[in-house]
Amino acid sequence: MRVLPTNIYIDIDGVILTRGAVPALHLDKFLNYILGNYSVFWLTSRCHGDCQYTVNYLSQFLLPETVALLKNIKPTNFRIDKTEAIDFTRKFFWLDDDIFASEANTLKQHDNYDSWIVVNLIENPDQLLHLINHKLLYHKYRV
Ligand SMILES: [Mg+2]
Repeated sequence: MRVLPTNIYIDIDGVILTRGAVPALHLDKFLNYILGNYSVFWLTSRCHGDCQYTVNYLSQFLLPETVALLKNIKPTNFRIDKTEAIDFTRKFFWLDDDIFASEANTLKQHDNYDSWIVVNLIENPDQLLHLINHKLLYHKYRV
C-alpha cells in the first residue's frame, strides 16, 4: 500500500521571514527536509492560487538557492480563512505564527487543533531546526 505523505501548510511572515523580513535561521535545511518528507503547501495571504507571485515576493529577501527550493511548494487559495484551503481528509501540520479565532474554531470542529504548530521566531530563533529534529521528524513506518 502506498502511504501518502502528510501535508504541511506554511505561512510566510513569522515563519519563513522573521521581523523586518529577515530570513528565518536554518531556512534551507528546513525547506530541504520538509520538501523531502512531506507534501508542502503555502498557506499565506501572499499566495492565492498563484505561486509565481509568492516566489517573486520572497526573491527580494532570499538567496537564489533558497528561492529555487521554494518553487517546489504548492499553491493554495482561500477567501477569508486559511482553513478554507486545508484538506481535512488528510493528516497535516500547519505552521503559522498567528491564526484567527475563526480558524482556531474550524480546527477544533475538525478535531485538528493540535495540527497547528505555533511558530515564534522572536522567542525561539532556532525553532525551524528544532521542529525538523523533533515534531516534524518523520518516521516512515509510523501509523
Ligand atoms: Mg504570519
